[in-house]
Amino acid sequence: MHITFWGVRGSIPTPGPTTVQIGGNTSCVEVRAGKAIVIFDGGTGLRLLGKKLLKEMPITAHMFFSHVHWDHIQGFPFFEPAFVAGNTFHLYGGNNVSRTLEETLAGQMDHPNFPVHLSVMGAKMAFRDLAEGEVVEIDDGAGARLRVTNARGNHPQGVFAYRLDHGGRAIVFATDTEHYEGRVDEKLVKLAQGADLFIYDAQYTPEEYAGSAGTGGAKKGWGHSTFEEGAKIAKLAGAKRLVLFHHDPIQNDAAVRDKERRAKAQFDDVIAAHEGLEIDL
Ligand SMILES: [Zn+2]
Ligand SMILES: [Zn+2]
Repeated sequence: MHITFWGVRGSIPTPGPTTVQIGGNTSCVEVRAGKAIVIFDGGTGLRLLGKKLLKEMPITAHMFFSHVHWDHIQGFPFFEPAFVAGNTFHLYGGNNVSRTLEETLAGQMDHPNFPVHLSVMGAKMAFRDLAEGEVVEIDDGAGARLRVTNARGNHPQGVFAYRLDHGGRAIVFATDTEHYEGRVDEKLVKLAQGADLFIYDAQYTPEEYAGSAGTGGAKKGWGHSTFEEGAKIAKLAGAKRLVLFHHDPIQNDAAVRDKERRAKAQFDDVIAAHEGLEIDL
């Protein structure tokens, strides 16, 4: 599998001179497995991925949305391949209890928030709202199959963490999930069991989470976690590599590097995700 990080920031895009190395685009990760294209989340990083995919059209891609908070869907109206007839997108989500994924993606393009409606997009779109634990099997176009499973995380309005298995390798994409006090998230430990790559919500340092550093006071109940908790789950799950993801907007390049350095003291193979990071499994 080949993984590319197109957006690694949480909450809101953070362009500017102090975030050039890590990048300012929000959540979007591309995975190539065989000939299959899988995309996790449609944050603003999706726009850049779209530019690349234009050169490969016509394409079929499978997009898994962790949830539909803005920083995970905002790139979709600017995803050029979705406007082009002949492309096919399978879109999976389903955490929002009151609206389907299709209604939510269309909703962010409704008048008066956006000039062009989702129905104008020319690509074929097949929406599928998933239940917790539901398995999606995808033909990889090269004689094998991909298997995507999920588990609910701990986040306001809900979230899915996804696990993608292909060719004996596994990636877990667990963004926007808060650890519990005094106990580990057993569902996440199970989902990440033996994963080669464990991408985890490390939005805060422990001090920012507790409110003794950063802005806005304590972050309990905000739905995000720390690198410390990521290392804990990675160890318990026997994951091989931990990727710190969904960096807080207040963290400049130096702050993210510092977070990475501190995480290394707790888990050997850890890397802070940055825009353009590519990993081969
Ligand atoms: Zn987020
Ligand atoms: Zn969120």
